[in-house]
Formats: sequence, structure tokens, C-alpha cells
Amino acid sequence: MENVPDMALDREMFILRSMALDLEHLGYSVSTRIVQTSDYGVPQHRQRLILVALRHNLEFVWPEPVERPVTLRQAISDLPSVQGGWHIAENRAGFQTYSGAIDPFQREMRARVPRTHAGRIYDHVTRPVREDDLVAFDLMDNTTRYSDLPAELRRYRSDIFDDKYKRLDYDSVSRTITAHIAKDGYWYIHPEQNRTITVREAARIQTFPDHFRFAGTPTAAFKQIGNAVPPRLGEAIGGAVAAAIRSSHPAGLSREDTAALLDAWWRTTVRVSMPWLKGATRWQVVVGELLLERSSQLVREALWPVVRDWREPADTLSAKDALILVANWINRQSAAEQLIRIAESLILADAESVSLVALDQAVLDGALPSGVGDLATLAGDSAITDDDELPVIVNQAILRVASRYANDLSRAKNKNSDGRLAVARLIGFGRPSRNAHVALLEIGRSICSTKDPECSVCPLVRTCAYAALHSLATD
Ligand code: SF4
Repeated sequence: MENVPDMALDREMFILRSMALDLEHLGYSVSTRIVQTSDYGVPQHRQRLILVALRHNLEFVWPEPVERPVTLRQAISDLPSVQGGWHIAENRAGFQTYSGAIDPFQREMRARVPRTHAGRIYDHVTRPVREDDLVAFDLMDNTTRYSDLPAELRRYRSDIFDDKYKRLDYDSVSRTITAHIAKDGYWYIHPEQNRTITVREAARIQTFPDHFRFAGTPTAAFKQIGNAVPPRLGEAIGGAVAAAIRSSHPAGLSREDTAALLDAWWRTTVRVSMPWLKGATRWQVVVGELLLERSSQLVREALWPVVRDWREPADTLSAKDALILVANWINRQSAAEQLIRIAESLILADAESVSLVALDQAVLDGALPSGVGDLATLAGDSAITDDDELPVIVNQAILRVASRYANDLSRAKNKNSDGRLAVARLIGFGRPSRNAHVALLEIGRSICSTKDPECSVCPLVRTCAYAALHSLATD
């Protein structure tokens, strides 16, 4: 399956996680990744979320990226010069004269053109260019911004439409070809000619070979091209699927089983480094994270029995003196002041226990760090109407575990894309995922340390790629 990366970026990753679980229940192994299409020989910057599901729980290995991206020059420089206008002046039959490929990419694009059509290029048409745009285009190179153009040539407000016109760079990849390229043609001005790109050039940038034709009007053709998965990406993923089926190597633990393993470990582990993440209220999580998280294990264990009594904001406010005493002792005075401020605002918002709405509001108001708010939402032992609406937390500790588990340190470190997918892979979806998620945090903070992870006590040791690679797995 292919979709835009945003599908993996919402706070709870609800659709993606639920889909992966459903697929696992149907007997598929599931792999997800945000791919950059230029890594697979597509001359275009285009990020897409790819989900590969293989029946019979087979292992999928992502295809290796190409060594060098294909540039726009390699992709389209063999196509003849044209002028704007939907009609092909040269030949009434709808094609222009093609004189031959220069680059291996171009030869590949021509490979299946019938011999009788070797001298023809179809669909090499683009929109007409207005007189004033012709002047504007002529003034532009690939670094020119819309606001750089003389005022008399700007038809749109340059403060809002800063990139209204964009000339493409022959020596780089193209910007993303979208489905509405017919309307946003000014974003795709040819690198050297004063016009927007043609249907055939857009097709080349998406790696559709030249024998491939599109149905309907040029606008319809642009839409078909912009909406497509680039064939070269499809080929790379398809090849990897075929290789996985041929090798029939079983995939590791499913997401659901990994989450169940982490859930069981969390429920049976008695001594944890952050006791406020286990069976505490949302407010206790906030107190623990803000006041004690940076202290040593010894101090945390000594002070938690005192702090634990403040189950709700009102308890903390009635014990202000004790809070200040504790804060002075561990040099966390600013945390104590912050806690008092948050407690007062939460009391104004809530009658008794801290609600999710009040937590969100405290984060929105800037009173509560979003990471602490998310953790209180996730770990706080207050009733939650729908278990599945919990955030996916991606912090440094959790990312470290997820990236080591997948042995994909550079890729999984990006907490806005692949890192989130790597974390989602470990926590699954549904009831066990809540504990599994907190367990990941505990592992990241206390076991999977930056240096010398204690793999022998980690519940993930048997299936962790890092442990296997460093021979750290034990019986
Ligand atoms: S097995 Fe080791 S490297 Fe892997 S997640 Fe656990 S502690 Fe980290």
C-alpha cells in the first residue's frame, strides 16, 4: 500500500496501527517505511509511506537505495524543445520528432517504444504561456523566488505566494509531481525553456516509459501521472517482495506478540526506575516526571514514598511546604514552582482528578511540556474511555530502543517519520500497547542505555537485531 507520509504522523497513528493489526490477524507480516523515491532511481523528491504485507509471515527486506539519484537532465534532456500550447504544431497526428536517447535512463524509457515509432514522442504538450509570464520566466533561474520578480510581472501577492513560480534545476531532482500539476504548472517551469513542463516530461519524472500513454485530456493525463506510484519505485518494492517469497525466511515476532511480550514484562516487573509510571494517577506522573525524573535511582526510591501521597493537584497544594523541602533537597526549586502553577491551573479546570482535556489545555497554554502531558495521558492510571486514542510517544529513550531493535540507527532516529514507525512496530495496537509503550520507556531509560545496554535483562533480547549483531542475546 502507498500513501502520503502524513498518514503515519498523526498523534495516535490510529489508521496505520489498526491496519497493521488487522493484517497480522489475517496472517500477514507487516513492514512499513517512509521512502524517498529518488533513492530508487526516480528523478523526483517524493516521500511516500509504503506498507508491505506478506502472507505466511515472511520476512521482508527493503531494497537497497541507488548510489546516485537520477537528475532532471538525465530524465528529460533528450526531449525536443516545445512551446506552450496544447496543440502540437509539428504533426497533426499528435506526436513530435524524437532524435534519440543520450543517457541510460532515457534509453530505458525508450526501450519498449515500437520500432515503427522510434522517431516519435507522444504527449509532449503543455499549457499556453501568457505574454507577461514569458517575460517573467525569462528572468528566472532555479534560485529565483516569486518575490524576486519585478512588481509589474507579479499577478499574485508575493508575501503569500513566495514560491508561486519555480524553475526546476536540471542538475537536481524535480520537486514532487502532484495530481494538480495541471493547475499548479508554474511550480514546474522547464529548466531551460520558458514554459511549464509537458505531459511527457511529467511522465518521465514519474518514470513512466515513453510507450505508456494516458487517457483523456492533458489535464486528465497530468492527474493520472501525479496520482501514481512511480513505476521504478513499484519495480524496486515488487522485486523485494519477489525475493522475500523466494527466500521464504520467516519474519520475527509480530507487532502484536512484541506488544504482548512487553506488556507481560511491564506487569510482572516489580522494581522499576520510575515508579510513577506504574499504577499512578495522571497527576502523580506529572509530579514524578517534573520533580524526580532527573534524580538518581537512589533518590527516586527514597522520595517516591513521600511524593506518592499527592495523588491529585489539590494534595500537592496542601503539601506545599513538603514540596518545597523536597525540591530544595534535590535542587529542583524551579520544578516545584512549575508544579504549583500547573496544580493551580488544573484545579481551576477540574473538580477532582485531572482530565485529558485539562492536560491538553495545560500543554496548549505552555504550562506543561508536551512530552510530560503525553506521558501522563499514556501512563496515568485514570479511566480512559477508548484505549486506542493514546498518543504514540517518540522521545530519545524510546527511539534508542526502537532503532537498536531494528538495527536501523540512522533511519529510525528521525522521530518525525521512520522513528515513529519503528516505535509503532513495537507497541502494536489495542489493549497491550499501552503497557508496552510505557515498558519501552522504562527499557530506554534504565536498560538500553546509550553505552553498554544491559541486554541480558531486556525482554526484547531474543528478537533484538542489535543484541544479535553484538552477540548479546543469552538463553
Ligand atoms: S536487547 Fe539490548 S539493544 Fe536491544 S533493546 Fe534491549 S537493551 Fe536495547
